Amino acid sequence: MERKEDKPIIKLKEKLDSPWIFYSHENAEEGVKVDKELILDKELDFISIIVDFYTSEALHKNASGYLNESIDNEIIREVSDNYAKLSSLKLFYQNELSDILENREFLYNDVLDFWQFVDLFHFAKEFELEVLFYGYRKLKVREDIYERYLSQNEKLILKLAILNIIFLRILYRNTDRINDIFFEEIINLEDYPWKYLFEISTGILSKLDNDKRRTESGLFCLNTVDLNRIGTVFAKYDMASLYFDEITKLKLEKFEKNKINCYASVRKNNIIYMTLNGVKDDSIKVNGVDRSNLQKVVDILAQLLGGDVEYVSISPDTRYYINPDLYINYSQYKNSNENLNRMFTCCERKLIAKMYTLKFGDDEKIELLVTKYPCKICLRTIDYVNNKEGAKLKIEIIDPLEMEFKLSEQDIIEMDKCAEKIDKNHPREQEE
Ligand SMILES: [Zn+2]
Repeated sequence: MERKEDKPIIKLKEKLDSPWIFYSHENAEEGVKVDKELILDKELDFISIIVDFYTSEALHKNASGYLNESIDNEIIREVSDNYAKLSSLKLFYQNELSDILENREFLYNDVLDFWQFVDLFHFAKEFELEVLFYGYRKLKVREDIYERYLSQNEKLILKLAILNIIFLRILYRNTDRINDIFFEEIINLEDYPWKYLFEISTGILSKLDNDKRRTESGLFCLNTVDLNRIGTVFAKYDMASLYFDEITKLKLEKFEKNKINCYASVRKNNIIYMTLNGVKDDSIKVNGVDRSNLQKVVDILAQLLGGDVEYVSISPDTRYYINPDLYINYSQYKNSNENLNRMFTCCERKLIAKMYTLKFGDDEKIELLVTKYPCKICLRTIDYVNNKEGAKLKIEIIDPLEMEFKLSEQDIIEMDKCAEKIDKNHPREQEE
């Protein structure tokens, strides 16, 4: 039989298992739902893609006169950096909660005694965050400094309590008054406070979701009032920044540098051409029949964008320039059976290849805006395209803050050598 005290746990579990929702317009009743399974796909790294998506679209709109008055790209960058942190925090918090709840056998009576000697209020108010991180980490690695004192269940409850306190401290830090009220009203309850831990968790998740929603629609609609306000509200995520490394360490996974997941788009004749980096997307198109997670991501992005959207997959004439006079294309590379996909994974060159297949009017010119600093190979192509006589296509790098990824000199030498070899052994069948 369902016990009364299980209800908050059931509610929390439901929240944890429900899809994430992403928004493009503030007033949209419903956002686009994304299953947890897709978010957790490590190969795909959905969070990086979606962060890049919102950032690129906001920078694009700002650069292409969407507003009468443009706003400082710096603000967009700041908000989207915080958005990235918020999303990672939410992911981390949910993963930890799921882990705790899966292992749970919290029994009402088992834990009553436990809280009789833990003063949670004192715990929450007096301990430095560093101490809480330390304690949490110890509980995770099961280096059982608590072994002698606590049962398995008690440790799980303590873990949940510390996790919640860490998040409360981060999210409420800049509003000390709220902090006090919050702690006093919610945590320092006279009866058994442990059972409120689940309500607190549900509250933390709602808070993260609300901030997430506001940021997404602010970025997507380039709502300057909102963006400025979010900038201020986001002061609390400065706190998250301060402790971001600590939180990352708590994951205890080998820290791998995020894969480069980049999103890019260009508009021509009211069609949005978009792409994600990578070469394994031959069979992907908007609302295509492919059953991969990549296909799902493409459909989600198309839905967020709305209107006419075309996904640009790798095409045979995607090019690798060795110098302005010498290039090989993707079909030569495929024929060669070489194995250096990095030569062709970039979004920019996939979009450029697509643009060259479209008809341009006499006076028509389009701009391809690049929001991340292009790699050396793309820069060669961009130079070539921009300097070509009578070029219809102009490529502008906006806000070149970050390197897309670091190709070493050695990598470039290796790729150039490979390209030269392919050029010699697998010449193009027809020169245009
Ligand atoms: Zn590139």
